[in-house]
Amino acid sequence: MILTTPTRLFQNGLFRWCFLALFLSVVLGSGLYLNYNGKNLPRSSETMRGIFGTLGKRSTDSQSGQWYRVQGGSMAPTLYGDCRSFSCQQCGLASPFFNFDQHGTRPPKLTCSHCGIFENNLVRSEESSGQLVRVNHFTSGVDLKDILRRGDLVAIKKDDAVHIKRLVGLPNDWVDSEGLHLKISGQRVEDMILSQANQFPLPWLLVDLDSARLVSRWKNSVRISDASEDVLADDWIRSELRSWECSEETNHWLVYQHRSQTRGSIPSPVWDDCVFNTGLSRKLHLVNRLRLSGESLGKGDVEFVFWTTEGARHVMKSFQGPAKFTIRSIEGDLLSSEASAEIPISDVMVIGIHLLSGTVELKDLKIDRSVEYRWRPNDDRPTPFQLSADEWFVLGDNVPVSKDSREWGAIRSAELIGLVDQATKFASPSLHELMGRIDD
Ligand SMILES: [Zn+2]
Repeated sequence: MILTTPTRLFQNGLFRWCFLALFLSVVLGSGLYLNYNGKNLPRSSETMRGIFGTLGKRSTDSQSGQWYRVQGGSMAPTLYGDCRSFSCQQCGLASPFFNFDQHGTRPPKLTCSHCGIFENNLVRSEESSGQLVRVNHFTSGVDLKDILRRGDLVAIKKDDAVHIKRLVGLPNDWVDSEGLHLKISGQRVEDMILSQANQFPLPWLLVDLDSARLVSRWKNSVRISDASEDVLADDWIRSELRSWECSEETNHWLVYQHRSQTRGSIPSPVWDDCVFNTGLSRKLHLVNRLRLSGESLGKGDVEFVFWTTEGARHVMKSFQGPAKFTIRSIEGDLLSSEASAEIPISDVMVIGIHLLSGTVELKDLKIDRSVEYRWRPNDDRPTPFQLSADEWFVLGDNVPVSKDSREWGAIRSAELIGLVDQATKFASPSLHELMGRIDD
């Protein structure tokens, strides 16, 4: 089948289904992710299978291109290959899983990352086909340095297969490490990509969606000035609509306490679990890039503090009526240890909110975390090293499992065959009717 325009693609039933059924993936942001204890999996590489044939003209500035179906999970949560999704009957959110059938039946300890509950509470298994992506092939002779930007998704021809990866290192860049964090010219890769607009922005993975919980993980803290006080304050009140309201200046903080995704919901730091890596057993790492979003009503000055491994980070916001807000921990100023000692946050109580003046209501509080690019403990490539004028460094967004430049080494320009410029939405099950029916 050869299709020449997006309009004609929409006439295809599969496309309509993908778009309609999974507009919910937008609601869920980058989706939900669980982590497993199980067998080690081989590293995967996103491979693609052309489904519509090749078009005559190959040019990055044309409206034509070749469509492929994604296979595998190395670009999750940006792109999904064939997988199976489960809905959680506590929170109503869906989690996609790869390699589901790899172990014959169910993999061990399938859990909802949002609730930390186990597979007997997961319902409505549905299979989803891999997303379709359009690759605009490069015209021969073109200078790729004029076309490609850091963060782009590129198609690579390697080992007789087409792979899709994210471009993180450009020619002449220095590639380095700080601990296991991957750095380019001294900066964390995810920060560089998040700071710029890309056709496929770096995804965020859901940590907590307060509107999906009957019992919130946000709690009033004890009064700071009286550490012996052992009762919860009631300055912050959660309404039936699950928004949080505070109407007077107070010493009390509204604090988010995280809970384990895989250990029965006990208090836990936020780890870099990835729900979709079914069966993978690996060392987890603390997450340092959180984002808090929601909607504010009322007027007032509010202080937000994030716990990070570098220290507490502090952001002030002045709300002047209804508005949506997004705050990233990396934006915050580092507080001194003396100042942060006054704030009831810790590695398991990772965000605190404090009303300084006015009356404020916060709706739909949502916490997510960015993908963090890391070397793996067994990646033995010596760093730092410099890419040549003809070399590029690529990674998969599914950092723990992706087979990419950490194994392949740098990619030569001749191996880059095109730029991904469109993708269908991932089709996950409809979840609205389950949302928030039961909760912990
Ligand atoms: Zn759940």
